[in-house]
Amino acid sequence: MQEIVVNLHMHTRYSDGSGTHKDIAHAAMKTGLDAVIVTDHNVLVQGVEGYYRFGFSSPLKAKTRPVLLLVGQEVHDQDRDPQKNHLLIFNANRDLASLADDPQALINSVREAGGICFIAHPKDPEAPAFKETDISWEAWDVQGYTGIELWNGLSELKTVLPTKLHGAFYAYFPHFIGHGPILETVNRWDELLASGRRVVAIGGSDAHAMHMSMGPLHRVIFPYEFHFRTVNTHLFIPQPLSGDVPTDKKMIYDALAAGHCFVAYDLPASTRGFRFNAKGREQSATMGDEIPVKGGVTLQVSLPRPADIRLIRDGRVVGTWNESYAYTYIATEPGAYRVEVDRSYLGQKRGWIFSNPIYVR
Ligand SMILES: [Zn+2]
Ligand SMILES: [Zn+2]
Repeated sequence: MQEIVVNLHMHTRYSDGSGTHKDIAHAAMKTGLDAVIVTDHNVLVQGVEGYYRFGFSSPLKAKTRPVLLLVGQEVHDQDRDPQKNHLLIFNANRDLASLADDPQALINSVREAGGICFIAHPKDPEAPAFKETDISWEAWDVQGYTGIELWNGLSELKTVLPTKLHGAFYAYFPHFIGHGPILETVNRWDELLASGRRVVAIGGSDAHAMHMSMGPLHRVIFPYEFHFRTVNTHLFIPQPLSGDVPTDKKMIYDALAAGHCFVAYDLPASTRGFRFNAKGREQSATMGDEIPVKGGVTLQVSLPRPADIRLIRDGRVVGTWNESYAYTYIATEPGAYRVEVDRSYLGQKRGWIFSNPIYVR
């Protein structure tokens, strides 16, 4: 399996972002991403998918790798007040925005079109100082979605903005924002997993590269490049990216559909190299897979750098290992096992890695 780093969920001028697809590809190239998935609001932009290549001005004249840009969409009902229930749709290959008023019909159509979908920013609190409303997901009775956006960069920002002054501080010192997914979202995910459902977690930046003015201050806050160094989704694909768009697109969406991925906060240190695998009596499994419990299952975690590891089964912590590179745990009970890893950064413990579960059945 090959690990690739993908940033997903972002906006261009086609909706409420400030940049173009080319700006995004350029920022992705500069930050070393393998791929990005652009998701403008209620529009499926055609004709921009593909590999982007840029000249390089470094004195080393190193050859840059091309970046794959894919396009999905973020659909919500614009007539609804407040505008809740945002759905990220990938690989449906047709515009489904007209179905926004009925979340279940929308999800059904995504599946019929061969696509996958994720509940965007499941909990997204209001930020009254900036006249931002709560746009959480409310239609929790829906079925058939692929997963949820566990960690959304913009939702988290809304949790730290009690006043405009806080906004100004974080606009200049964005490194202090990231701590982890919103707890209510994590709890919701654990509840769904404990009920026996398979729910894939992804991390989204929700990058807009917004312009902000406060008196004399004017600034592009949270440029794409900053977002691309923060909340990413690391995917495991069977072959290295080939350069052929349809082949690589299929590998990426297959990995997302299967949950062969983890949510990463790459700002404190790169999470590349994290692994969470299972070995049973007769088979082995990785994140997103199912494995029989019979005879016991050995769960193995390894990290690229020492950090604090928690193993969680159906929402309950079953083990913690501090400042460790690796651990092994013998699972004898069925359940959805997942891993969280914290790391110290800027004087605080912050969420670093959130794995997808291995389903021990
Ligand atoms: Zn949204
Ligand atoms: Zn968005």
